[in-house]
Amino acid sequence: MDYNYLAELLFPNIKTTPADMEERYPARELPEGAKVTRFAPSPTGFVHFGGLFPSTVAERLAHQSGGVFYLRIEDTDAKREVEGAAEGLIRTLATYGIEFDEGAILDESGKISDKGAYGPYKQSMRGEIYQTFAKQLVSEGKAYPCFTTEEELDELQQIDKKTEIKNTDWQAEAEKKKAEMLARRNFTIEEVEEHLKAGHPFVIRILAEGNPDNKIKFTDLVKGNIEIPENDEDFVLLKSDGIPTYHFAHAVDDHLMGTTHVIRGEEWLPSLAKHLQLFRYLGFKTPKYMHISQIMKLDDNGNKKKLSKRDMGANMDDYTRMGYCPEAVCEYIMTLLNSNYEEWHTQNADKGYKDFPFNIKKMSVSGCLFDFDKLNDVSKNVISKMDAAYVTEKVTEWALEFDPEFGKALASDKAFAEKIFAIGRGGKKPRKDLATWADAKPYMGFFYDEFFKVEDSYPENFDKADIAATLEKFLESYDEKDDMNTWFDKVKAIADSLGFSPDMKAYKQNPEAFKGSVADTSMFIRVAVTGKQNAPDLYTVMQIIGKEKTAERINKMINSLK
Ligand code: GLU
Repeated sequence: MDYNYLAELLFPNIKTTPADMEERYPARELPEGAKVTRFAPSPTGFVHFGGLFPSTVAERLAHQSGGVFYLRIEDTDAKREVEGAAEGLIRTLATYGIEFDEGAILDESGKISDKGAYGPYKQSMRGEIYQTFAKQLVSEGKAYPCFTTEEELDELQQIDKKTEIKNTDWQAEAEKKKAEMLARRNFTIEEVEEHLKAGHPFVIRILAEGNPDNKIKFTDLVKGNIEIPENDEDFVLLKSDGIPTYHFAHAVDDHLMGTTHVIRGEEWLPSLAKHLQLFRYLGFKTPKYMHISQIMKLDDNGNKKKLSKRDMGANMDDYTRMGYCPEAVCEYIMTLLNSNYEEWHTQNADKGYKDFPFNIKKMSVSGCLFDFDKLNDVSKNVISKMDAAYVTEKVTEWALEFDPEFGKALASDKAFAEKIFAIGRGGKKPRKDLATWADAKPYMGFFYDEFFKVEDSYPENFDKADIAATLEKFLESYDEKDDMNTWFDKVKAIADSLGFSPDMKAYKQNPEAFKGSVADTSMFIRVAVTGKQNAPDLYTVMQIIGKEKTAERINKMINSLK
């Protein structure tokens, strides 16, 4: 068959050649060892935790090596595309420190535009490029047209998926379809001409020459040495609208855009043989691959399962709503990505996660476990190191959106809020009360009358009269100008006068000799003033809310005890 003639028949409008494309997109000039990586999402919805994960790896590896990190929008499946998803994606990624050097960016009006010399970075705008390479493959007899209807194609794709998971029920049917597919390779130029004349749509398929009994040895930078069966499937390169499939676009784009490391989810591993075949057919150098394991979570029965799109913690918008700060989420991702991150972080407490020498070899091969408890721990640490002004600003920002009443209270007196958030901050052992901004209200809402309520009751073993007496004596002696020691000495004296030990050591040695200790009398006062048994330092609390409010709350409690 005259393949050149066939290529002209199929692509009469394509006048460009692969050589033209190589000229349009010359190799990048970068220092030795610089990595070029990309994030290549399909704009089909929100950013998934499982997407932030590989994109963090890609960002780190590029920027750590002085390379380039770019964003490519893979919008080849118009049916699945969600309006505004690409824009949302760029914004969300930026929130999590994922900044691109080039690619699709948001311009001032919030619309997507291109930055960089290797665009367009939206696949739907690269039709001519893909068709140029498809035409080349047809002219070399490595790809051929297939006049199949959309429905037939959908059906075939279903079977392809099923065969990938080697479901034996599907095996017989798959064999049949394969035979049909092989029959499609047999056509004459005249048949093609007739189809085209009748306006029948066609797809371009690769002419697969692999034998799945032969195994390709391959080194994945995460998975290590693996063997995969050669590809024998005439998969589709161009759909009938001239738009490429993921496979074809991946090979063409990652080659022309100079990607050195393809970092993507391990769900693409079964397609790798297809991609290797394509790189070979097209005469492109194969990039390095890193297939990142799926994020797992424990289900209710303690079994590991994939973190699915519907799970809490999958959608990055969930984190915003729950009040997680991006800094903490990023730190948490680092702890998942590199097993030695935490140790490094302890030794380099003053450094940010972007200073950490990220190491591919320290990545988990089998899959990381997503765990809210661990995230909360990391987050408490991260927030405990922030200064009060920043925390105040962030909590207020969050609350104004998700808890407006609380937000307005904070915003009405910034200095007041800042004093509260300053409690226990800045020292060697800072308080770790907040894992999320949403934790702020339960922690410090009591400072505000509108959110104050007595949540904890006094333990039954104490005499109400003793509690009331403690509160009365405290009020009598309270002087706002006392320093902390004087204040506490007074609390101790009250304890002593009521038969509670002022000295913890003495109390522990002989508890029977007392009604309780100064810890208990402090608690009596604490519950009255804060409504809780556990609250930040009581002396400071009183300093912040002032004598009047302190007295008001204590009096109210005394009355309720009578
Ligand atoms: N568009 C593909 C996806 O969203 C990209 C995979 C890749 O990074 O190559 O899964």
